[in-house]
Amino acid sequence: MIQSDYLILGQGLAGTALAWTLMSRGYRVQVVDRGESITSSKIAAGLITPITGLRLVVSWKFEEFFSFATDYYRRIERETKSQFYEIKPMLRLFASPAEVQQYAQRSQTHFPDLVTIPEPLADESQFELPLGGFEMTGGQLDVPAYLEASRRYFESDTRFQQAEVDPVNDLEFESNTVRLPKWNLAADKIIFCEGIHSQQNPWFKTIPFEGAKGEILTLKIPGLNEQRVVHRGIWLAHWKEDLYRAGSTYDREHLNCEPTLAGREEICSRLAEFLKLPVEVIDHRAAVRPVIRGRLPIMGLHPQQPQIGFFNGFASKGSLQTPWMANHFADILEGKATPVKSLDLVHKL
Ligand SMILES: Cc1cc2nc3c(=O)[nH]c(=O)nc-3n(C[C@H](O)[C@H](O)[C@H](O)COP(=O)(O)OP(=O)(O)OC[C@H]3O[C@@H](n4cnc5c(N)ncnc54)[C@H](O)[C@@H]3O)c2cc1C
Repeated sequence: MIQSDYLILGQGLAGTALAWTLMSRGYRVQVVDRGESITSSKIAAGLITPITGLRLVVSWKFEEFFSFATDYYRRIERETKSQFYEIKPMLRLFASPAEVQQYAQRSQTHFPDLVTIPEPLADESQFELPLGGFEMTGGQLDVPAYLEASRRYFESDTRFQQAEVDPVNDLEFESNTVRLPKWNLAADKIIFCEGIHSQQNPWFKTIPFEGAKGEILTLKIPGLNEQRVVHRGIWLAHWKEDLYRAGSTYDREHLNCEPTLAGREEICSRLAEFLKLPVEVIDHRAAVRPVIRGRLPIMGLHPQQPQIGFFNGFASKGSLQTPWMANHFADILEGKATPVKSLDLVHKL
């Protein structure tokens, strides 16, 4: 029987950050994941964007989370001797006179230190730039490379098991231990980091999951030499070698992982509004983001079964928020912090 302090179920962005954080505090950690090829994390673009949306809103606690995430990813790069994180300049192009007006009203009061206006803004032979825009600094995580490097590290230390766990029938509880006899695993606590799959987990059946399907394209764009991420309703980001990625759609109705013609057309037509060059679609994927009503991450131990925990709800912000939130959850588990009501599992059950 392999005994650990924490068994982390699910190795997406949430489970990976929590596993590293607990390990760095000296806990024995086991990670279990079923190894699906398409998950929300595996297809995510990994963008960390400071200012988003039509109203040009600065992402919640951006400066604190971004600085924490940057230090965290750099540390995991060193631990795994890999590279998967970059600080990235990002270009936001205005799509309407209303956005130009929002910028004029908010830039000096809400984000004076986060933006600059380069001259020229971008190459006019490649981009439509009638209304202008601004530049900001964000980050880009190569999520599959980060997950893979982390998994290899956990495996090398026998801390990883590939398995599909039934959250009810595969778990046995004793006074201070939860056992998974099928795999000879035992832990003081099991923390569910299953992403949208927790929607089917009977322990969390009252959590108001909403979910949002996203589709994303990998593209070849001959002649394009833009290395910044370009945002204009959707985003276009250099990926690797001569490949770019563009996305993503947001669909709250069809919560499945099927790429659709409508999704592909939506991304291509919105891209054509600002990109002058023709694109060739190389790959097209879809997955469901784990959104919980309120759009904040949720964490905590189950009030009726405190050997069970929950860390989920990262919606579109997994790359930015999981490092800080994992640290916060570890503080809560150690009794060093009290859960804020809006993030607390107890208030969602
Ligand atoms: C198209 C798209 C683009 C995105 N772009 C960005 C972006 O640019 N920036 C950003 O920050 N975020 C982005 N996101 C969102 C981001 O991906 C999510 O915040 C993140 O994936 C959530 O991670 P998670 O670990 O909670 O869930 P998941 O990635 O779903 O991970 C859960 C893991 O648990 C495993 N699992 C579940 N149940 C079980 C079980 N019973 N037994 C064993 N294993 C199990 C699953 O197989 C999976 O590996 C995007 C999402 C999509 C869909």
